[in-house]
Amino acid sequence: MGKYLLVMCFALGCLLFVQGRAEAQSFDIVKVADGVYAGIGKPGVFSNAAFIVNEDDVVVVDTHLRPSWARDLVAEIRKITDKPVRYVVNTHWHGDHVQGNQVYISVFGKNVEYLAQHNTREDMIKKAIPSVQEDLSKNVPETIARLQKMLSSGQGQDGKPLSEKDRQQFGEQLASQRAYLDELKQIQITLPTITFERSLVLHKPGRDIHIYYFGKGHTRGDVVVYLPKEKVVVTGDLLTNGIPFARDSYPVEWVSTLESLRNLDWAQAIPGHGSVQQGKDQLDKLIAFMKDVVAEVQSASKNGMNVDETKKTVDLNRHSESFPNFKTGAPAMVERAWAEVNGKIQD
Ligand SMILES: [Zn+2]
Repeated sequence: MGKYLLVMCFALGCLLFVQGRAEAQSFDIVKVADGVYAGIGKPGVFSNAAFIVNEDDVVVVDTHLRPSWARDLVAEIRKITDKPVRYVVNTHWHGDHVQGNQVYISVFGKNVEYLAQHNTREDMIKKAIPSVQEDLSKNVPETIARLQKMLSSGQGQDGKPLSEKDRQQFGEQLASQRAYLDELKQIQITLPTITFERSLVLHKPGRDIHIYYFGKGHTRGDVVVYLPKEKVVVTGDLLTNGIPFARDSYPVEWVSTLESLRNLDWAQAIPGHGSVQQGKDQLDKLIAFMKDVVAEVQSASKNGMNVDETKKTVDLNRHSESFPNFKTGAPAMVERAWAEVNGKIQD
């Protein structure tokens, strides 16, 4: 009997192990319509992808910060279909949306086409490639050194002793940053092979896939991928579940870009970060917030306020409930809007 139980447990253990291995490593895969899937980044991966399974091929939108994560997404796609990925769309140039591009050529061969708005291609050359180099030579080694120092001294940056939880968290971060450093050495940014100005449509059997550029927003080259039949849109970082990252954005123009996105007939959005959105509530919250940012910054600027005075003066607290990252996201957006309104942004 004992032996029998032991065998059972062993078998069950193996089964759990196999199931555990088969689980998505980096993504929660969400089917949003027939043939349309969201790859929602798990904590630590955080940026999303979408993939569309057509009659004869697959279209992928965005490729993550690390090639290993792009490979994880390919493994997820392979569980659903054996059709090859033929097109990769980059919604914008940020590393967490383009640094895994190379995986698709290496897995599916050189017929893979990479689609992007032409500003995005330019910015991948001007900014994404140098940023890989900077991460490799400076940012990541510095982060690793900082984490190592805290772990070996047992003290945080504030000089206070680390708790057991801190130790565990920093230990995990250290392992993750080391793995990223190894991957960075392998990254060769693969550039878009097909670019366009305003729009491009892939006419597939039974499905049209529209790619639109509505103007500047989160960057100067953001596109959305729109499926009219399925009423699904993939937004990149024009829309996320919080206040999107502002550093490279154009808040004034972003408002009208978001209004164009709103004018499309869709029921579900796959955002650049965060879970799939049903309906336009989050978009409406973002539009309301962005309009207020721009109006308040414009009026502060008319009164001759500099950026610090502007940040102190504008009051956007009525939007604080709309975004989990309001505390850090709002000031960053105000700062960038001030730069745009005052002609301080250089492309
Ligand atoms: Zn971004």
